[in-house]
Amino acid sequence: MKQSFYDLNFSDLEAVVNQNNLNPSVAAVLFNWHYKKKQSSQCHNKISKSSLAFFEQNFDFFLPEIDTVYESQKDRSVKFLFKLKDNHKVETVLIPFNNKYSICLSSQVGCAMNCSFCFTGEQGLKRNLTTSEIVGQFLKAWRWLAANRPGEERILNIVFMGQGEPLHNFDAVKKACEIFLSQHGTSIGVQKITVSTAGYIPGLKRWSREAPGVNLALSLHSPFEEKRNELIPINKKYPLDEVLAYIDKIPLNKKQFVTYEYILIKDFNDSPDDAKKLGMLLAGKSAYINLIPFNSFPGSRYRCPDLDKVEKFKEVLDAFKIPTLIRGAKGDDVLAACGQLNSNNQY
Ligand code: SAH
Repeated sequence: MKQSFYDLNFSDLEAVVNQNNLNPSVAAVLFNWHYKKKQSSQCHNKISKSSLAFFEQNFDFFLPEIDTVYESQKDRSVKFLFKLKDNHKVETVLIPFNNKYSICLSSQVGCAMNCSFCFTGEQGLKRNLTTSEIVGQFLKAWRWLAANRPGEERILNIVFMGQGEPLHNFDAVKKACEIFLSQHGTSIGVQKITVSTAGYIPGLKRWSREAPGVNLALSLHSPFEEKRNELIPINKKYPLDEVLAYIDKIPLNKKQFVTYEYILIKDFNDSPDDAKKLGMLLAGKSAYINLIPFNSFPGSRYRCPDLDKVEKFKEVLDAFKIPTLIRGAKGDDVLAACGQLNSNNQY
């Protein structure tokens, strides 16, 4: 089987070019064509016939296919169901903000974490995505915007908050980040990429040494051990205090902070006591809290909290001087909001 061109970061591609005695400029030309210009055709710009033939013979340029597009009627969110080569399916979401978009990428088919509040967990883990399947979600979503909402093909932020636990698929996610960051390609800034984890320690251990400087988010959801065990079963194996200790070791630059995500679930973790304990846990850290009112999905056992409870929760955190944002649900009419992705459940 041919290797996918989209599995190569820039230095991999340079190595291929060197080993095969091709013109050294070919690596930059190809990255520019496929990632900056986001062309779907073969590159025919500033590249010799023999180099082109080499890549056609040795690499495939296949990307996941768009199976179904769901456009929110409420806001301009778009959810894509992608079909992979082996017929597995994953979802990707474009989230609008001021005529621009953030993209929420999947890193695995399904997920092994089995969090009790998340629709994806019910699918179980089928397999990891390859780097080409991750960057492919971005390229295909961009091209869809260019074709269907011309002028709006501006995807400025990338979040790994779709299906899967990105740190459970460290190598492919890392390489995808390197491709997004490459100056020869999409050239997205380190501050614009966020990888979100449920607290998978083997991945966090590698993070401080190997991560390409992008932002990290932790799904915290409860400062109390028992409640977190119920929500995120891997907390039994990788408890929160250890997770936080690893995160504290990650070197951050002055402008950087770690995002802590907190789902608010009615009558479960939405009381002022929960907020106070959370504040005590995070006070003094370079932290930013995202409060996410629970999004329901078919068969979910939890409920969304009342708005006044959400606001009270934030007030308690404000007293700890931790910047806190209440995240509004976008795209929930097409099951595109946080925790609503499930590629087995199409309606
Ligand atoms: N596995 C990673 C990334 C996927 S989830 C992680 O756990 O961080 C991305 C965010 O959506 C996480 O903060 C997750 O906890 C949250 N989420 C999952 N299900 C949700 C739901 N039903 N309602 C609101 N947020 C949810």
